[in-house]
Amino acid sequence: MNEAANMNLESHSKPPRAEVPDPLKGRRQIGAEEKFCFGCHQDLECFTRCCQDINILLTPTDVLRLARRLEMTTDDFLQEHTLMPITKDLHLPVVMLKLGPEPDKRCTFVSDKGCGVYEDRPWSCRMYPLGSALPPARAGEDSEPVHFLFEEEFCLGHGEKREWTVAEWKADQNLSHQEELETGFREIVSHPWFIGGTRQLDPKRMEMFYTCCYDLDTFRRFIFSSSFINRFELADELVEQIRTDDEALLRFAFRWLRYALFCEPTMTPTDSATQAVTGATVERES
Ligand code: SF4
Ligand code: SF4
Repeated sequence: MNEAANMNLESHSKPPRAEVPDPLKGRRQIGAEEKFCFGCHQDLECFTRCCQDINILLTPTDVLRLARRLEMTTDDFLQEHTLMPITKDLHLPVVMLKLGPEPDKRCTFVSDKGCGVYEDRPWSCRMYPLGSALPPARAGEDSEPVHFLFEEEFCLGHGEKREWTVAEWKADQNLSHQEELETGFREIVSHPWFIGGTRQLDPKRMEMFYTCCYDLDTFRRFIFSSSFINRFELADELVEQIRTDDEALLRFAFRWLRYALFCEPTMTPTDSATQAVTGATVERES
């Protein structure tokens, strides 16, 4: 069980340093080569203590995997198992796992035997005791995450002898596939468009971001029940993939968002779509 109030939220108020999100403030920052001691197993007295009264932000892949594990559509999963906190500082919607009732506020997936969704547990549960923050990217550069160590007193895992670097811990937790899949997501949330903190997406684009990143079943329905496919140059093979393969659809969603949110040339409109837009522009101007 590796779990906690982890956060990969980024702050975009002052480039290029990461402004540390509240849950990571005061935590010890840990360098790439630095070692930390940790171990987590069923014999520890604290077993499952960490699965209550926590904030667990879900990534797009977390939502997808949990929904599929529970045999739910993404829209049903989001409604039943998540919350979407709204604060004025957030420039993009975030999705949090809904916990059980007061006073314990236990994760609804935990039992005395441990995590009931272990193979599909969220990114932040795998990362614990590490947290990370992503500074905003400068144009043309990738943003590198900075890591922090959670050292809560109740967690006895810090007394274990085994030593890890950040990379070793991530490898042990099988994070590489998820992190590769979500490269496009990180590029969007740390996008230079947000640098300075003065730009805000309008409500329509916020909703588009939420649907594309988290509610993939609704995004798929939109793609295949509208003129979307005909409006862009898309290879038949890709269309088939996004119809049937969730991960292909997620990668495509990130690509589409860069076009739709930041006007990047990641999609090519078909001639007829361009003509339709030009015609509409001409009509408006005349
Ligand atoms: S060692 Fe820490 S992470 Fe593991 S079960 Fe105990 S409190 Fe949770
Ligand atoms: S998803 Fe699993 S590891 Fe994460 S808080 Fe819930 S029970 Fe714990």
